[in-house]
Amino acid sequence: MPLGIPIVWSDRCLLHEPGGEVWIGVPIPGDEVPARAVVIRDVLVAAGAHVVETQAHGDEALLAVHDAALVDFLRTAWDRWTAAGFPDDPGQNRVVPYIFPHPALVEASAATIPAATSARTGFYAFDTMTPIGAGTWEAIRAAADAALTAADLVLGGARIAYACTRPPGHHVTRGAYGGSCYLNNAAIAAQYLRDRGVPRVGIVDIDAHHGNGAQSIFWERADVFTASVHVDPAAGWFPHFLGLAEETGSGEGTGMNLNLPLAPGTGDDGWVEAVETLLTPVQADALVVALGVDAAEEDPESPLRVSAAGFRAAGRLLGALGRPTVVVQEGGYDLATLGSLVLAALEGMDEGSD
Ligand SMILES: [Zn+2]
Repeated sequence: MPLGIPIVWSDRCLLHEPGGEVWIGVPIPGDEVPARAVVIRDVLVAAGAHVVETQAHGDEALLAVHDAALVDFLRTAWDRWTAAGFPDDPGQNRVVPYIFPHPALVEASAATIPAATSARTGFYAFDTMTPIGAGTWEAIRAAADAALTAADLVLGGARIAYACTRPPGHHVTRGAYGGSCYLNNAAIAAQYLRDRGVPRVGIVDIDAHHGNGAQSIFWERADVFTASVHVDPAAGWFPHFLGLAEETGSGEGTGMNLNLPLAPGTGDDGWVEAVETLLTPVQADALVVALGVDAAEEDPESPLRVSAAGFRAAGRLLGALGRPTVVVQEGGYDLATLGSLVLAALEGMDEGSD
């Protein structure tokens, strides 16, 4: 049976070339590369999936979850960087930060946007792993549009739609980007569903890393439940500062955020059980699934040890909730297995929702 889930695609998502990243001050190759999206698409097409072209959407969907200043920075960062001459002197052909408004630096004064182009990046970027190059804005805009197009399909009656896109987005907060992410595609899709009349939306993040972006964006919201299963940041894993079980939301959002941190080495049994636990309290009229598959045993970016069968089982649990579901691609970095892992998860959802 061909995969019955439409997959949303844009060639523009390939235009972002990180060109490596900087980790503990050292340039490293990085693995959030354009080929990720291509290998996933090719496996899904071979499985018979119907491809839907990404439709352009207005900025208002972005601005519903992100600060206008962040969106404007991302849109203009590369042009400002080249105008400042940095690709020639000192020879840095990506926009990267070097100074950050650390809370203990700025203390009582509100941090203001620095005048220097060299310093401005640190006002928005929270790490050095997330470079901006010539095609980055077009790609990140296309990624958001792909998530919104998948949301349109679901609003139009599709049970499940999948945005096959990159760069990922789940680490981005309202005003800061990082973790190889620039705009929070899943959060944008969730708010878009809310703004089109879906009363309650649940964001379920099964990427190997904590979905800190949606947690932060919807922290005080009662209408968007956020849930994430991930490798325990307290055991030494990105995003290090967030993702603990005691983070449950505040104000009207108290009890509306659920984190399930797992020990490094957790395999199918523990992980699938955690996904089931994660879904138990979800009271939502529609779901957005932040589908990272970097919890896979083969993946270089996490110590979890989930198999394709584990992703299929998680997919079945998600599908069995019977909710209209927008699936957005997040992490997953082993090019040899990436496509088959995503296929397993989507097939599970398809089966589970029958
Ligand atoms: Zn991840």
